[in-house]
Amino acid sequence: MPIKITILGSGTAVPSLERSSCSVLMETGSACILFDIGAGTMRRLLEAGRTISDVTHIFISHFHTDHTGELASFLFSTKYPENLRRRTPFILAGARGLRSFYEALMGAYGHWIELPPEIIEIKELSNTGGDFLDFGQFKIETLPMRHIDSSIGYRLTSLDECCAVYTGDTDFTENVVELARDADLMICESAMPDGQKIEMHLTPSLAGQLAARAGVKKLVLTHFYPETESVDIEAQCRKTYSGPLALARDLMTFHLEKKRNSEMRRIIQEFLDAYNAFDIEGMIKLLHREIVFENYSQGERDIVVKGIPEFRGLAENSKGIFEKRRQEVLNINFTDYEAEVQVAFEGILKVDIPSGLKAGDTLKLQGKSLYRFKDGLIIFLADYS
Ligand SMILES: [Zn+2]
Ligand SMILES: [Zn+2]
Repeated sequence: MPIKITILGSGTAVPSLERSSCSVLMETGSACILFDIGAGTMRRLLEAGRTISDVTHIFISHFHTDHTGELASFLFSTKYPENLRRRTPFILAGARGLRSFYEALMGAYGHWIELPPEIIEIKELSNTGGDFLDFGQFKIETLPMRHIDSSIGYRLTSLDECCAVYTGDTDFTENVVELARDADLMICESAMPDGQKIEMHLTPSLAGQLAARAGVKKLVLTHFYPETESVDIEAQCRKTYSGPLALARDLMTFHLEKKRNSEMRRIIQEFLDAYNAFDIEGMIKLLHREIVFENYSQGERDIVVKGIPEFRGLAENSKGIFEKRRQEVLNINFTDYEAEVQVAFEGILKVDIPSGLKAGDTLKLQGKSLYRFKDGLIIFLADYS
């Protein structure tokens, strides 16, 4: 399942009409996940087309007010009878200390914000090392960030291995690199401009340096103090990072595609490269041991082979037919379980064939192939011409 990400608050503790305090919404499958819940979150959530009743998880990066300021209001609003009636259980997670933080809010607001225990589940995560939660539809990994004791960064991985990282507030730390390794997207704080760095926070060029070292596929800078508004944040970040870059604005959205699709595309291309080069072992190393290959000519199935030895025999045989051959991918459509590949084939014959073509003639065809995969290998392949 893909991940849809909406920046709900790209700002800080400083009130701003453009930037709410910190919050990010991530949606994958039926999960509706908030990272932080600073002032303005519930309103931005409505603007993003969701309500507080939709929220299934809230992950807190740390207990500063610009990241948690609307939690008490969220709990209070959830008690509004109409909201409570629609409410399904949700999870509130954060670093060790979350439970006492929650109880301290109870101490201040009393039963007015207290939810029935079957509605809210509190989960505490380590603030001294890595931690992990598996919710079925997505997984969460965390590492401590360099900010305050309760600071942790989050890495969310969806069922199809899309991966997004939210650092929360942090100063420069190797843990960002580790947490964000090869992530599809990292939302990283960049509180102050280069040259005006403050303790416990990053600047655009430092965030860029961490993103470059982690090899993230896209970097989104956020948590902008007013000082950042009058400088060229992008140029500062470009000193250290050359990949895709966005500067967060409230209600900006991102969609993370299936990693599985790009993986399937890579295997198909590698298989065809080996095919084109008559590299039979190169083809076979991409095949599952239970491979089934079928060939259809004009709708009739004329070849079926099962297993690697049979496939190798067929491949050796067809190697004898062509002097040169080339399959080129025109288009690939992915479904949940297979890839449908439109291909153009061109081959120069080594021998005469029954259709009447002679050795030296060029055979040109357009057709399609269906690929299915198991354990990162091709388990089913059908050619249609
Ligand atoms: Zn903070
Ligand atoms: Zn902050």
